[in-house]
Amino acid sequence: MRHKYDTNPHWPVMIVGAGPVGLLLANFLGQRGIRCLLIEKRAQTIDWSRAIGITPPSLEILRLAGLHCEMTNQGVKVQEAVVHDDRGRAGSLSFNQIPSRYRFILTLPQSKTMKTLEEALQRHPSVTFQRGTELIKLQSGEQHVRAKLKDITGNNRTETVNAQWLVGTDGADSPTRKMMGIHFKRRPYGLSFVMADYEDTTGWGDEAHLFFTQHGSLESFPLPDKKRRWIALLDGENNAKTDKGWLEQQTLLLSGKDIAGLRCSPIFYFEPEKISVSRLWADRTILAGDAAHVMSPIGGQGMNTGFADAEFLASLLPELLNRSESEHEEILNNYDFRRRRAARSARRRSALGMWVGTRTGARASTIRSVLLRRILLKSPLREKLAPHFAMLNIPFNRLNRPHAGFIN
Ligand SMILES: Cc1cc2nc3c(=O)[nH]c(=O)nc-3n(C[C@H](O)[C@H](O)[C@H](O)COP(=O)(O)OP(=O)(O)OC[C@H]3O[C@@H](n4cnc5c(N)ncnc54)[C@H](O)[C@@H]3O)c2cc1C
Repeated sequence: MRHKYDTNPHWPVMIVGAGPVGLLLANFLGQRGIRCLLIEKRAQTIDWSRAIGITPPSLEILRLAGLHCEMTNQGVKVQEAVVHDDRGRAGSLSFNQIPSRYRFILTLPQSKTMKTLEEALQRHPSVTFQRGTELIKLQSGEQHVRAKLKDITGNNRTETVNAQWLVGTDGADSPTRKMMGIHFKRRPYGLSFVMADYEDTTGWGDEAHLFFTQHGSLESFPLPDKKRRWIALLDGENNAKTDKGWLEQQTLLLSGKDIAGLRCSPIFYFEPEKISVSRLWADRTILAGDAAHVMSPIGGQGMNTGFADAEFLASLLPELLNRSESEHEEILNNYDFRRRRAARSARRRSALGMWVGTRTGARASTIRSVLLRRILLKSPLREKLAPHFAMLNIPFNRLNRPHAGFIN
């Protein structure tokens, strides 16, 4: 793939970090013919997968980028999530009536999502993608941002490039955010999980299954290539037991499925955390994706929220490039207001979902079961749950929204 610096050292837009959010933003800018430099410190593509769930609003966004078919053709369309408690099947949540053209959650390993987004960059000659390049210093000027980049593929050569606008999509630890001096809060939820992707022999097809019991919580999602992800909550006593044997025992105990001996990915241990930032821009630098907000992965909203940042920012960057200096602040405040509000809403949902899903012990579990069964079987709330989990009612999720100047 052509990944060479453009001979012109002055870029309209530079994007730091080619995770899913930076890659999608580069695609959108390429679609608009905007010259942009995308840099990524990793020299190689990833082969692991964290994010798997792509929600209907994100599929709408990918449709705008002309990528929805490539994604949906590779993924699994999850139309139903079955919920179990200590007494067995408690009910289910169906996505097939939600008000969207996509009536499912698509599961696709993050590595495949990113590969598809990276390959699509080849259609956009205005985008230059440079791997093995790390942002090491940022300096803001009146008319541009000066970025010092290091080639980390061997020779440690450094180079300084200028960009009119720089977007930091460099993840939860965001060096860009640090260099901008933006204040942020980072807090753990105090819980830990283990997960791995196994060969799928459950016979559950494209259904997701969620187990909320007094002995713990377990989530199971279908993946392409006849695989299935299992995610188990570790309780205090088992915090050290991050081995695959423990996940397999817990799966057997909670779901009755024996997955021991099946082919599987390496086990992955994670402690969810949340990050909120005080603002999304400073001078000529803007944050998006995990650099701008982190929420618990339980609920699968982080990448989806980042996709919505990318789509909105892609519609604002042409305005920033074309409008006068005096109008920039209003445009950037619009982005800041809408995207921080959307992230707050997604973060609150994931916190609530985690809280409900992680109560253990007989008493808490009984109360949760009574509530779950009421809601899933009878309550009018049932109709609202599927759009809620599909992220349809996150604020400012509508596309083709009014741009700068309208904060409503
Ligand atoms: C277990 C788990 C499961 C998840 N499941 C879901 C899910 O189902 N759905 C969902 O929506 N979200 C999910 N998430 C969250 C999702 O993975 C993140 O929100 C998403 O990866 C954020 O994308 P990003 O592009 O903003 O950042 P990242 O994916 O972190 O990418 C940032 C990139 O920037 C690069 N970088 C960093 N510093 C520099 C530098 N100085 N110079 C150049 N490059 C740099 C990094 O190498 C990296 O490639 C999950 C997370 C976890 C941990």
